[in-house]
Amino acid sequence: MDSAAELLKYYEVYETIGSGGFAKVKLGRHILTGEKVAIKIMEKKELGEDLPRVKVEIEAMKSLSHQHVCRLYHVIETNTKIYMILEYCPGGELFDYIIAKDRLSEEETRVFFRQIVSALAYVHSQGYAHRDLKPENLLIDEDHNLKLIDFGLCAKPKGGLGYELMTCCGSPAYAAPELIQGKAYIGSEADVWSMGVLLFALLCGYLPFDDDNCMVLYRKITRGSYNNPHWLSPGSILLLNQMMQVDPKHRVTIRQLLDHPWTMSGYGTPVEWYSTQPLGYIDEDCITEMSVSQKISRQSTLQLVNETLLFDDDDDDDAEDRCYDDDLPWVPLTPQQERATCPSAEKRRDQTKHAPTPEREPIALHHRHQERRDRCRNGPMKTKRTLPWPIRMLIYLLCRPRSPVANRKATRPNKRVLTTPTHNNTNKVGNKVDTPQGGGSTCKDPSRKRPRERVEGKEEEEMEILAFSPERRSRSLDLAGASRGDSSQKRRGGKVFGSLERGLDKVITLLTPSKRRGLRDRPRRIKAQYNVTLTSQTNPDQVLNQILSILPEKHVDFAQKGYTLKCRTQSDFGKVTMAFELEVCLLHRPEVVCVRRQRLKGDSWVYKHLVEDILSTSSI
Ligand code: ADP
Repeated sequence: MDSAAELLKYYEVYETIGSGGFAKVKLGRHILTGEKVAIKIMEKKELGEDLPRVKVEIEAMKSLSHQHVCRLYHVIETNTKIYMILEYCPGGELFDYIIAKDRLSEEETRVFFRQIVSALAYVHSQGYAHRDLKPENLLIDEDHNLKLIDFGLCAKPKGGLGYELMTCCGSPAYAAPELIQGKAYIGSEADVWSMGVLLFALLCGYLPFDDDNCMVLYRKITRGSYNNPHWLSPGSILLLNQMMQVDPKHRVTIRQLLDHPWTMSGYGTPVEWYSTQPLGYIDEDCITEMSVSQKISRQSTLQLVNETLLFDDDDDDDAEDRCYDDDLPWVPLTPQQERATCPSAEKRRDQTKHAPTPEREPIALHHRHQERRDRCRNGPMKTKRTLPWPIRMLIYLLCRPRSPVANRKATRPNKRVLTTPTHNNTNKVGNKVDTPQGGGSTCKDPSRKRPRERVEGKEEEEMEILAFSPERRSRSLDLAGASRGDSSQKRRGGKVFGSLERGLDKVITLLTPSKRRGLRDRPRRIKAQYNVTLTSQTNPDQVLNQILSILPEKHVDFAQKGYTLKCRTQSDFGKVTMAFELEVCLLHRPEVVCVRRQRLKGDSWVYKHLVEDILSTSSI
């Protein structure tokens, strides 16, 4: 199907919330559950030779399931576009959070850093190196927890993560010296360097290695020379030094970061890196609830869920291979380490009623291995799914756990059925993964972010027009009867499940045609967020006019939509170098005018300086 129709069967589509080198990302809502999602939209034509990278990202995200890795729910591919439906992270980029706060305290940095270490330890344990770690690729979810995104540059060396890679990629300021020098490198070691740069950015609010001139920047990185500002504690200085060691063999490892004194300070426990929501985890309570609501036996419910959720459309082909593919690269923890790192492993084992974990097998791996073994043993490896995709997602959405708030740390029950991201293809994207040593090309520009001017296509227009109106939305949600409320409401799976069984089509045909939202003639009222700058003024029009008068001075083009200014800068050759929004809003309390800002495209640090400049010159 070559239009947005396939997407709009399942999702409402709203405004653009971000864009990167490959994609435009829009806010969406799953029609039947009301769950907000992020829809990453890629034009195949524009992807060109980057298409395999998208395939890499999809493959990686399909196989990763972790509390600090953004979840991929669904992939829709048409002749011209690829849509990735992702877990929505309303808190925006960690980058924006840092710049809004100037820099973070050591305590707050530690909360985030532990989550980053947890995500990376898990990603590495699955055989992947991320290779593009930076604060723009860490998003904040509704519980203020971090989620890692953008796996477009990740690599899974065939022989394991210990094998060397050649491709130079990622953002220059975060790239390890061995990458910049074009040497063969170990992906996990390069990730630790980038985490060091990231840690510095969190603690300091600026980059350790920075220069407009690329050659100067590279020289600074290869020398590993940076200055420690006076506010850094001796512990932070030491850790940064250990992470940003030019010689990768002298660099601290992820394993050492898990229980590093700095990471443990104030916690007393190592970072919990295992997945609390592994693929293949079946929540017993959820099965009970579903079987009661559906009036079918637990056994049948379990079978239904297994058949429905275990296998992707396109995974059937290689399912057998995966059965025997147990050579994951993560070195097993000792039993003591496992107990220290996974204190609740025993408990979860009981809950999931899995066979006992082998003595030395880390729990996350155990779940994966167990899942594979179960698949091999139970046979329905090649069973075609029996329920349409939306039901699969629905079960996932209704039963998945909410991620725990950082400081409440993993106290909530794990409400999750089994999940496997789906790849609902009409045709398939390329299949090349970066392999060690062989054939990797060195990017001319190590940053793969190639800003592109996107022509709003006919299809996109169609999508906007087809996107559901609020009335339409509320009717569909009423029908679904779930989701937007609290978690107990969310878990009332039966009602939604029932309505689904009565037919998705019925739901869709009940919906009324859309209406485009009119332009705002007054500013929105919003709550204070970190991407909001307060002013000392009470008249929104005055603030708007002040900003409007400054933009031409700063060589910023803009289009005005009510109180929103869609801004962009261009290079001498007309290439869009930066796109962002400034919106004049009213704050609830205190009753003042504020400016909401959002970066859509372009270098984050350049954006930071430009917006700061605009807002301070506007004297608002
Ligand atoms: P690309 O692969 O083209 O670089 P990204 O995956 O980095 O695209 O996404 C671009 C931007 O879109 C991100 O920096 C972020 O601001 C926004 N974004 C991406 N995924 C999500 C999400 N799951 N929730 C909210 N915003 C997102």
